[in-house]
Amino acid sequence: MRKRVVVALGGNAILQRGQRGTAAEQMENVKMTAAQVVKMIEAGYEVILTHGNGPQVGTILIQNELGARQVPPMPMDICGAESQGFIGYLFCQALGNHFAQMKNRSSQPICLVTQVKVDPDDPAFLHPTKPVGPFFTEDEARRRMSERSETWIEDAGRGWRRVVPSPDPKEIIEREAVVALVEKGYVVIASGGGGIPVVVDREGKLEGVEAVIDKDLAAERLAHDVNADFLLILTDVPQVLINYRQPSEKPLSKVCASELEVYQEEGHFKAGSMGPKVEATLRFVKNGGKRAIIARLDEALEALEGSRGTQVVR
Ligand code: ADP
Ligand code: MG
Repeated sequence: MRKRVVVALGGNAILQRGQRGTAAEQMENVKMTAAQVVKMIEAGYEVILTHGNGPQVGTILIQNELGARQVPPMPMDICGAESQGFIGYLFCQALGNHFAQMKNRSSQPICLVTQVKVDPDDPAFLHPTKPVGPFFTEDEARRRMSERSETWIEDAGRGWRRVVPSPDPKEIIEREAVVALVEKGYVVIASGGGGIPVVVDREGKLEGVEAVIDKDLAAERLAHDVNADFLLILTDVPQVLINYRQPSEKPLSKVCASELEVYQEEGHFKAGSMGPKVEATLRFVKNGGKRAIIARLDEALEALEGSRGTQVVR
């Protein structure tokens, strides 16, 4: 039996720090990322992919703001869907081109626009924390707060920015389709940007909400749904560090859940970056997953095989 792995790709898989975000830049990065994914497939792993969308959905939101005088701006859920299609397309093309060169070209990539159920009573809805979209002046931000039910905050001296809730992902709505495609041998790209957050009413009807789901926590849900052996979270640092940015900073190579939980409670992992990754690995192994790994993108296969990254076990 081939081992199944859900790979969560970080922002650097699509856009490098300092780049403007042209189509050519993003395509080039995605090609390099696809090469890492292909290495895992060639080594015999069954790969399911998910990815972040922060900079891309940020761009779409800016385009919507600036274009609003000519065309109606779209709400966040639709912007999220647009970003899934955009990024999914780049990965499908890059992976497809790689597969066409392979001797055993049985795989085919496919991207699913994915909705993720959240709880309307999630406390996150009372405390929006996730900054999204363009920066504005204080006057403009205050005008928006009075006109719409939006929360805006002053963001570290850089201007005013909208913040939205980041509720916990409960369930991937399209999970059966994901599983069916994985079973058929497709390389599925799903739940991009953490998925489109939706709530379900009493009659079972879905509705998009103005929120952002953390992509690492959604990756754990995806890994659970496809019964993955491993969860591999790829980012721009080689290992998880304790005492981060202090003289006593120390990388974690192999750690069990109970030890990692102690570090988590001690506050070693920043909210919004390493925090959710650590939480996702803990949930995965506690829910029965064999091993979860946090590693650098260019060390993906080595990390999966156990010699790089931070290995989290039960
Ligand atoms: P991604 O796009 O891959 O999700 P993030 O920026 O969200 O990337 O998370 C990765 C970043 O987390 C690293 O670049 C690092 O600066 C930061 N980080 C915060 N706390 C830690 C920690 N304890 N150990 C390692 N990196 C940390
Ligand atoms: Mg992140």
